Amino acid sequence: MPKLLSNKLGVIQYFQCACAVADILRRHHVAGRSLESLPDYEVIQLNDTHPAIAIPEMLRVLLDEHQLTWDEAWLITSRTFAYTNHTLMPEALERWDEKLVQTLLPRHFAIIKHINDRLRVLVDQRWPGDSAVWHRLAVLHDKQVRMANLCVVCGFAVNGVAALHSDLVKSDLFPEYYQLWPQKFHNVTNGITPRRWLQQCNPQLAALIDQTIGKSWITRLERLKALEPFADEAAFRARFQQIKRDNKRRLADNIHQVTGISVDPEALFDVQIKRLHEYKRQHLNLLHILSLYRQLRDNPGLDTVPRVFLFGAKAALGYALAKNILYAINQVAYKINNDRTINDRLKVIFMPDYRVTLAEWMIPAADLSEQISTAGKEASGTGNMKLALNGALTIGTLDGANVEIAEQVGEENIFIFGHTKS
Ligand SMILES: *Cc1c(COP(=O)(O)O)cnc(C)c1O
Repeated sequence: MPKLLSNKLGVIQYFQCACAVADILRRHHVAGRSLESLPDYEVIQLNDTHPAIAIPEMLRVLLDEHQLTWDEAWLITSRTFAYTNHTLMPEALERWDEKLVQTLLPRHFAIIKHINDRLRVLVDQRWPGDSAVWHRLAVLHDKQVRMANLCVVCGFAVNGVAALHSDLVKSDLFPEYYQLWPQKFHNVTNGITPRRWLQQCNPQLAALIDQTIGKSWITRLERLKALEPFADEAAFRARFQQIKRDNKRRLADNIHQVTGISVDPEALFDVQIKRLHEYKRQHLNLLHILSLYRQLRDNPGLDTVPRVFLFGAKAALGYALAKNILYAINQVAYKINNDRTINDRLKVIFMPDYRVTLAEWMIPAADLSEQISTAGKEASGTGNMKLALNGALTIGTLDGANVEIAEQVGEENIFIFGHTKS
């Protein structure tokens, strides 16, 4: 990233954190409460490392503005912050340039240095002379500030976002931190709001569920289990199918408006919508499409279910390989969509401008949900949950929350394939 831009991002991140910390302390004071009681009333839940600079900011305010001692300020701070980890991938773990922090926020840098020095004493007691362990645990390393390390050292709780991911946080990402502070680590599996991702985006299906089992599912999602007996009822199934067909027709109209391409709402809608990334393996889906295309070319009489492959994706602006994969998908789409010999039995659509609004149109129309990440790489996923909630079947790897979805729906209702993590 250009230096100027990264400076500005750092300043904005700091400014927002400083305002939040000041506001939390102001409200606490206005409520007539003592500083020492802050952790009894407030938790600052760091949603990824982006607001991690709030930790040295809190320490700075307590030390410099309230004249607390280090031990007093540390006790309050370390009982107030908690951290949610969202990825294990090293390139995605935030590291701030030491020079940048030193120049923009010299007092915060001094505080981080002090945290690092105290950590060093603790690590030396536990692993005397083991420099390899220290290099993994240090907050300051290689002229960078490791924000995730700062969060683990300074917080009272660390969680991952699915059972598998939280286990990997302990075993692969922070094994020594886990040895030091096992009580900090726990799991909070991600969730989605059924209001947006069923009631609002799929009003017909929501109404069918209301009529069948009542409205209480909206706040007690486990009550959807009461739908199970209706899976064998012909009338209920017919209404479910009709709703899916209506949603597919609506999406087909939208696809035609946006891309000019006609798709048959009676075809199977095979949907992969998520950020474009190597570990999410849109290119694996593309290889499958090519193999189906080859089969149809070799054997034009082949009896197959007509299938529409739908993609939606966004990516970081500097991610060159993402653009290559996007280009490849569109080249294959152009070839297949214009090949008369396969008789419209295969279509490939890359919908532009993937965003929540588009997700709300595509998810109610999906028959198949593609969740095919390399095992161990997808922390949780939430798209998997949105699609399952709207009655799409999942094809996927044992990764992230797919593991827990499989436990909920039963292995006979999900298509799991491929390697597992370890
Ligand atoms: C749900 C959602 C995501 C996350 O999708 P995953 O498949 O879990 O990666 C990304 N972008 C948008 C617009 C979403 O609605």
